[in-house]
Amino acid sequence: MNSEINLSHSSASVAQADILIVDDVLENIRLLSTMLDFSGYQTRKATNGAMALTAIKATLPSLILLDVRMPNMNGYEVCQQLKSDPKTVHIPVIFLSAADDITNKIEAFRVGGADYITKPFHVEEVLARVQNQLAIIAAQQTIHQLNAQLEERVKERTQQLETANSQLSEMAFRDPLTWLPNRALLMECLRKALSQQQTNPEDQFAVLYLDCDRFKPVNDSLGHQAGDDLLIAISQRLGSVLRQEDLLVRLGGDEFVILLDNLVDSWSATQVADRILKSFTLPFNLRERDVSVSFSIGIVLDCSTYCDPEELLRDADAAMYQAKASGKDQYQIFEPSLYQTVCRRLQLEMDLRQAIQRQELALHYQPIVELATGNIVGVEALIRWHHPTQGLIPPDRFIPIAEETGFILKLGNWALREACRHLRQWQKQHIVTSSFSVSVNVSAHQFAQPDFVKQIDEILAETQIDPQCLKLEITETVIMQDTAFVTDNISGLQQRSIQLSIDDFGTGYSSLSYLHSFSVENLKIDRSFIHRMHKSKNNFGVVTAIVQIAKAMRMNLIAEGIETSEQLAQLKVLGCQFGQGYLFSKPLPSEDMVDLLAATFQKHLESPNNSPI
Ligand code: C2E
Ligand code: MG
Ligand code: MG
Repeated sequence: MNSEINLSHSSASVAQADILIVDDVLENIRLLSTMLDFSGYQTRKATNGAMALTAIKATLPSLILLDVRMPNMNGYEVCQQLKSDPKTVHIPVIFLSAADDITNKIEAFRVGGADYITKPFHVEEVLARVQNQLAIIAAQQTIHQLNAQLEERVKERTQQLETANSQLSEMAFRDPLTWLPNRALLMECLRKALSQQQTNPEDQFAVLYLDCDRFKPVNDSLGHQAGDDLLIAISQRLGSVLRQEDLLVRLGGDEFVILLDNLVDSWSATQVADRILKSFTLPFNLRERDVSVSFSIGIVLDCSTYCDPEELLRDADAAMYQAKASGKDQYQIFEPSLYQTVCRRLQLEMDLRQAIQRQELALHYQPIVELATGNIVGVEALIRWHHPTQGLIPPDRFIPIAEETGFILKLGNWALREACRHLRQWQKQHIVTSSFSVSVNVSAHQFAQPDFVKQIDEILAETQIDPQCLKLEITETVIMQDTAFVTDNISGLQQRSIQLSIDDFGTGYSSLSYLHSFSVENLKIDRSFIHRMHKSKNNFGVVTAIVQIAKAMRMNLIAEGIETSEQLAQLKVLGCQFGQGYLFSKPLPSEDMVDLLAATFQKHLESPNNSPI
């Protein structure tokens, strides 16, 4: 709307003024109309009161010049009728009268007259009084218009304010990225659902707590913008498997909560969880790359025991944690015993953060042996945690926690530095040859760091280790990520002649084309195949196939978990070059490893026909 108030309208109405002259003396009418017509006004005439009222009804005049004394109906009576009708009450009336006494004038104003002119007329006086009244009308019209415009503007502003207010309150309950309801709204809805359930126990509802399993590496490697796009796509996919009445909430980060209301039976919540897990088997296409994510879901099925929505969420979260700990990409229903498990896990998580400072972590080493000669050609570094109260905790229990919490970055960096430091000591002690290598396990999170190669450079410079003596063990999933940072890191490592080994080969989504395009040097057959090798033809066949693949791709093959001499003999027949396992040695603390290496090196010196360590 135009905010400027329009004033020009009022002057236009003056120019179009239509004046009704009412007088029973024709001479007076003629005189007045000539005078007014000459001054540019339009005039109409009436010679008695009844005629005047009919003319006024037909078209409302701007102004009336009304004679007081007329037969049948005098001017006062006409005026009274006009002032009693809302349609004509606003028309100004100027009385005309020969009488000049004060009582007449008072009566004229009492019945609603606007002004009074005494006969005989003076041209200037009539015109001045007419103009005066018209100016008053114009001013009134202007005021009226201004009021209308003002009212319109106030209405408009009020509406704008109301819209802004409702937007503000909407924002208070929405997540700004996905525009899904947020935690505040969830809490309100949970409170409502809980109180409804108390009055009507039939009303069943369930709460699902979702946490994305692989969001952080995607976010770290593809960048935050892509991470945001992924979150939006995730929220859309979640929405597509839910009913209209279900509440999907983004708590923050990669955490979502779903409130399933009006459930026929609480078990249908598990069907929803199944549908969600299934829907994420399809990858997302992000920046022309396929990105796969999965979810760990915690479910509270029986909400009837809760009064506090915070407690309900805490338990759904605890169940989600358990789903993660049990291998991710699955759901877990909350049971009270779970709470203890989660508390213990949280304690472990806190203890782990202190473990490096408190020097509770150590690397053990397992020899890697050349099968044909029995020589130790290198070692694999395997981390151990000596917990002050729980004793020795195996890596399978704490590495997943470290990965989830991001602590793996610090822990992995420590392991790399420690392994290189030990190798340098052994080199200085002259118990290993210059080609002896140390293999260090590297997790996917570590590998996705943009400065991973820089960290390695620093460690190598600090410990004075030749890059060729360091091997990094990664799992198939790392190269399957195929993100920009992973690709850059692989080529950075290749430039420095740092070899890569694919660990636990055969257990992941092996893709030969990936192996080929990244030209990885070493393949480690997972120990589960070696373990079952002699038990079934199938497993033997798998090992044979892997040996063939390694040969065709000119990769070194290392068999993990060799425990028996039969397994060793079979692997030798197949042409597998290297191996490690309890048959040769369990992983040893570094002091024991020094003894073993020293003894083997001594043996080697005594029988120089052996190939070097
Ligand atoms: P991995 O890299 O596949 O390591 C081989 C595992 O097999 C080790 O378990 C080792 O002790 C075990 N092993 C070796 N020979 C035999 C055998 O003959 N029989 C049997 N039954 N087991 C054998 P460990 O030390 O418990 O490590 C488990 C996993 O933890 C490792 O599997 C690796 O994935 C991870 N890990 C260990 N240290 C680190 C580390 O510093 N960083 C990272 N990111 N992961 C690590
Ligand atoms: Mg390994
Ligand atoms: Mg392995």
